[in-house]
Amino acid sequence: MPLPVVAVIGRPNVGKSTFVNRLAGIQDAIVHDEPGVTRDRTYREAYWRDRDFLVVDTGGLVFDDDTEFLPLIRQQAQLALAEAKAAILVVDGQAGLTAADEAIATWLRQQSVPVLLAVNKCESVEQGIAQTAEFWKLGLGEPYPVSAIHGNGTGDLLDQLITYLPPTEEEEETDEIRVAIVGRPNVGKSSLLNAFVGENRAIVSPISGTTRDAIDTVIEHEGQRFRLIDTAGIRKKKNVEYGPEFFGINRAFKAIRRADVVLLVIDALDGVTEQDQKLAGRIIDDGRACVVVVNKWDAIEKDSHTIYEYEQAIKDRLHFTEWADTIYVSAITGQRVTKILGLVTAAAEQHKRRVSTSVINEVLEEAARWHTPPTTRQGRQGRIYYGTQVSTKPPTITLFVNDPKLLGDNYRRYIERQFRQSLGFNGTPIRLIWRGKKVREMERESANRATKV
Ligand code: GDP
Ligand code: GDP
Repeated sequence: MPLPVVAVIGRPNVGKSTFVNRLAGIQDAIVHDEPGVTRDRTYREAYWRDRDFLVVDTGGLVFDDDTEFLPLIRQQAQLALAEAKAAILVVDGQAGLTAADEAIATWLRQQSVPVLLAVNKCESVEQGIAQTAEFWKLGLGEPYPVSAIHGNGTGDLLDQLITYLPPTEEEEETDEIRVAIVGRPNVGKSSLLNAFVGENRAIVSPISGTTRDAIDTVIEHEGQRFRLIDTAGIRKKKNVEYGPEFFGINRAFKAIRRADVVLLVIDALDGVTEQDQKLAGRIIDDGRACVVVVNKWDAIEKDSHTIYEYEQAIKDRLHFTEWADTIYVSAITGQRVTKILGLVTAAAEQHKRRVSTSVINEVLEEAARWHTPPTTRQGRQGRIYYGTQVSTKPPTITLFVNDPKLLGDNYRRYIERQFRQSLGFNGTPIRLIWRGKKVREMERESANRATKV
């Protein structure tokens, strides 16, 4: 399935190309100042959270007198819009609302794509609100103050934008587990990949097929399909110069973003390095499940303590992934390699697991019985009203509390430990969102819930 297209539209000089560069993650591209320069439609890859999409800059829409678009650019914009899943109309918050903006908005309202309104050049937050006010008139809903140059405000806009994009192929395919194999150079990633493919049935070879398949390898193991992500990046790597920023980290980050489960491969000979910690940090930030694979176990001289020493070292140096299973393997001899996929399956199940609200609240009640939330010197005490799991991948639980400030880090960690102890979630990070609520709101909601039950 091709990536969804987002069209960026607006009159010249409002900052469209700067904005597109911002979305595509390039800050220093050259920007031309002449208004009305027709550009070819160029598609740029962009992503936000776990969504990939293409942005297309339609070129500046210009009016001939004050009634007609210049036909060519208008045609371009029309074409771009025809294939777009969403459009972003960019206007200039410093210049204010113009007749050209209104004409474009009128035209956009007649199209069938959802439109978001970005009020650009709003560098200052306070002024931004005032600058956007007049753009409500365009009839395109809430104007978002943004600065393409500095990046502020774009997050809110993109959060909204991705809700307009169709579900990805990957989101629809639920029977496949997406696996990223990441690690420093020479830890044995490609040896592991070969071991997986050697032992299992490779369904899609990484060479032919669609673009996506060309970089992934799909294997089947005990009736379960695994999509090994970006295996071209793992295979093709000989004669690469390793820069100071270690090899392929962006590629690894990209693979992590697409994965359900990440295999963090560590070289038993080197132990846990700073780069491994960096990757682990990313896995947590992106909310991916993880299995720690200590490879080259055959090359280690072992006595009865060795495994405990490794376990301790991993606990110390990768303490933030203490929920992840660790497995000691050899890609070369094949020792325990097939067991990895079993751990991957288990982690993937936890990653998408849903726990009922009643179970969550039992844990919370039990937790509060052992340890009441702290009280401030002024006598204010934190209170957790209730919790509910709001999403999966990773499991995310929102906790409604009287005032999030009253629940400090220690208490939050305590609650997280209680969830872990009672609910497991082995192999996946979990997220807790602490949300303040007024008592009256809470009472109204619980009354509503009570009547529904
Ligand atoms: P386009 O014609 O709509 O593609 O606009 P450009 O991206 O070429 O930008 C037009 C002018 O606006 C350039 O001088 C940019 O430097 C400037 N510009 C773009 N974005 C911003 C912004 O967020 N803040 C400010 N202050 N200027 C911007
Ligand atoms: P990558 O850069 O992470 O893909 O690592 P490779 O798979 O290319 O392996 C790097 C080197 O480590 C090669 O010389 C492999 O033969 C060696 N190697 C990989 N796995 C093992 C293993 O399990 N045991 C031993 N002793 N060597 C291994």
